[in-house]
Parts: sequence; C-alpha cells; structure tokens
Amino acid sequence: MKEFQEIARWLENRGAIHSIPRVETLPAPKFMMNGVEHVSFSTNNYLGLASHPRMIAKAREGLERYGVGNCESRLLGGDLEIYDALERKLAEAKGKDCALLFATGYLTNLGVLSSLVKTAQFARIYGYRAKARHSYAFFSDEFNHVSIREGIRLSGADRLSFRHLDLNHLDSLLKASEASTKIIVTDGVFSQDGDIAPLPELLQVAERHDAMVYVDDAHGTGVLGASGGGITEHFGVSSERLICMGTLSKAYGAIGGFVATDRHIGEILRLTCSAYGFTSTLPPDQVYAISEAMDIVKDEPERRRRLWENQRYFVESMAGLPYRLVSTATPIVPVLIGDEVLTGRLSDLLQAEGLHVDSVKFPAVAKNRGRLRVILNAGHTREQIDRLVAVFRVRAIASSCHEFEDFSAERIGSGGQHPRGLDTALA
Ligand code: PMP
Repeated sequence: MKEFQEIARWLENRGAIHSIPRVETLPAPKFMMNGVEHVSFSTNNYLGLASHPRMIAKAREGLERYGVGNCESRLLGGDLEIYDALERKLAEAKGKDCALLFATGYLTNLGVLSSLVKTAQFARIYGYRAKARHSYAFFSDEFNHVSIREGIRLSGADRLSFRHLDLNHLDSLLKASEASTKIIVTDGVFSQDGDIAPLPELLQVAERHDAMVYVDDAHGTGVLGASGGGITEHFGVSSERLICMGTLSKAYGAIGGFVATDRHIGEILRLTCSAYGFTSTLPPDQVYAISEAMDIVKDEPERRRRLWENQRYFVESMAGLPYRLVSTATPIVPVLIGDEVLTGRLSDLLQAEGLHVDSVKFPAVAKNRGRLRVILNAGHTREQIDRLVAVFRVRAIASSCHEFEDFSAERIGSGGQHPRGLDTALA
C-alpha cells in the first residue's frame, strides 16, 4: 500500500498524473466542456455517425426488441442471430470468409493475437500431434497500437519489433527467424502518426517468407478506399495471407471490434479465443447501429468527401507555416512540436481558444517527439479549421520573436477577444 502512495506522489510531482478533461456532451464535432462550447479536433467519430438520426433510430429498435444488454457470452447461450448477420456483413465488406465480433477493438487485438498461437496447443487436447515442432513469431511495427503490443506479449510467442515502416529491417528479421508460423503485424493507419502501412509491399515480403499479415484497420475502416472499405480497398489488395482487424468505435460511431479472416482461422478462433467466447457480447442495440453505420457510409458518400476536403484544407492552410506535419496521408495530421512542455502549453493554448486537440507526448511517442494530433472530421467547418490554423500561426510568430504578450486579438482572428492564456502558455 505504501509503495503505491509513494510512487503516485512521485509521479504527481513530475506532472505525470494530471486531470483528464471532463466533457458534458459528445463531440459532433462541437461539444460542451466546463459549460463552454469547444470544437473537437480529436474525435474518432470521423463521419459524425455517432449521433446520426438513422443510427439512433436503429439503436432504439434494437433496444426495444432485445432490452439493454445480452448478459451472456457467445458460447454460453448468448449467440443471437443478429451477431451472426453482422459478422457476415463485416466479412463481406472485408472480402474475407468470416468475421468475429468483440466487445471493443482493444479486446480484439488482445484476444486474437494472444490466442492465434495457441492453435496447436489447443488441438493437442484432442490428441493432435504435429509432424514437426510448431513455433510462432510475431513481427511487429515499432509504432503499433498498445493493444497489439500487449496482445503479442500475452501470446508468449517470439516477438520481434521492426523499425517503423522499414521493410528491409522486417525482411532481415524474417530471414533470421526459424519459427514455423510467422505473423507480421501492423496498424493500417498509425494512430499517433497518421501514416499508412504499405500493405501491398508487406504482402510481398510475407509471400517471400511464407508469413501472414495481420492489419489493424481501426482508423481505415469507413475512411480509406473509394467506398470506405478500409486499407484493402485503398490499395486494391486481397490475400489469403491477410487477417483484417477493425474497430466499430471510430468511423462507424458505435463500439466494438472485429476480425475478418479465412474460414479455418475463424473456426479456430471461435474455439480458442476467450476474449470472443468467454465474455459478454456487444449490446444488441449496438449491433443494430453498426449494421446501419455500414449502410450509411455507402448511402452518404458526401460525408467521406467532406472529411477528405477538410483534411486537404487543413494541410494546405498549414503549408506556409514553420511546422512539420508528421504525415498528411489521412485525417490524422499530427503537428510536430518536439519538446514535451511546449507541446503541453500549446495544447492548453488551443484549449483556451475552445479548440480541443490531443497532445501526444512521451511515453506514448519517443522523447522530444511531442505533437498535437489534429484529427479532421466531416463535420468541421472552414471557419473552425481557420481558427485552429490561426493559433498555430500566432504561436509560430510568437516563438520566432519572443514577444508573446504583444499579439493582438486580430492576429489570432478570435473575434475581438484577447486570446486567453496566450502570454502564459508559451515559452
Ligand atoms: N487499434 C488502434 C490502431 C487504435 O487506434 C485503437 C483505439 N484508439 C484501438 C485499436 C482500440 O480500439 P477500441 O477503442 O475500439 O477499443
């Protein structure tokens, strides 16, 4: 007990324990926080579907038909036919034989990655004896989401990390490995950097080494590709080597995760993956809403068009300013600041202007690679994006001449009010 108290105090003194902003309404992308209206540049509700009237109506239908929760796991009496219908729809959307639903995306990665490697061990219970000794190894991009890293760790299999997007490094690690099953794991869109994994090339590397590729398409599903089909549609690739994971909590505006695979892997996962079979299922109203979200993405392509127009508008508006954008390939456009303290201060400054942007700092990214992770949204207006860019512009001018207090309200374009906190927020 004492140790927790001591460490908590130590962390608190170093600013590692800080309060998390409490919000009163959901970002659409406007939201209320501390009684003040803010604009979110951090929500994953890319297309604004979380509050779409069709989604709400469908969720209501699900609620009325089934009630609030299932209170059962899939393997023990909770296998409603609506789960199966949604899994078939997701599998078809990803061009795979089958899909499995999970309560969250996090749980999907944790469950699937940790249990894939237990296949032979599971079969041994039934007397299966492999002809040769089986061994598994994961090859994971160093910037993969934490749920991937934890899933791999939990598996107990060999884990090798390759430098971000470095196919030569990956190739050399694969060459040196003697594992009988090799699984390359990558985010589709990297959540902290916004860049896209080179899936066609990864599949070529996998082909050369007889490996599989597991792609986490959390930020691509509903966003990338001509019809929002995700990273595979974006690149026009399909492969039996590919396992596609995705979340339902981002562009689809609900909650949950899924994995889409070939038939054999799907069948095995249903048996071996306890995060699928031994936990309570998604509430039925969410299943109704997710299915509707998939239809809306197709029926209303203008949402995706607006998202990408906003993304381009922001990138073009930042072009003349002295910032490095970590990537400009997706609606996640992180603005590199570097120093952690400065990153935090700029985030506070944006907050004071009613603009919510996540500041991403060590340990989420490497030291001195602090960034403001701007996430564009279909619902942003030009005026909202202009306001965001104006703060970056003022901060750039302020850092170059060190006369922070002199900046007038006009320069930031904040409608005649002095930008709150500007003088204290910068150093
Ligand atoms: N993978 C990636 C790449 C993510 O960014 C996230 C969530 N931020 C997840 C998985 C987890 O998804 P969920 O929030 O649905 O649990």
